[in-house]
Amino acid sequence: MLRGYRTFTCPKCGHKFVGPDMELRATVDTMPLSCPKCGHEKCMPSTSIVDAIKDCFKVGSIKSGM
Ligand SMILES: [Zn+2]
Repeated sequence: MLRGYRTFTCPKCGHKFVGPDMELRATVDTMPLSCPKCGHEKCMPSTSIVDAIKDCFKVGSIKSGM
């Protein structure tokens, strides 16, 4: 189930990108996404408080394409 959009950080190359926050097997965990830059498959949502605050304001404007 889609919970919204969040900022993900690639642990391999450090690239930050916005992606859908999907439930992982109906748990509170987020499904890992692939990095659009290097292809690393286990990018998790950023744990930075700054990114978390940005995500709160992004929800309405994300559809304009990133
Ligand atoms: Zn990457």
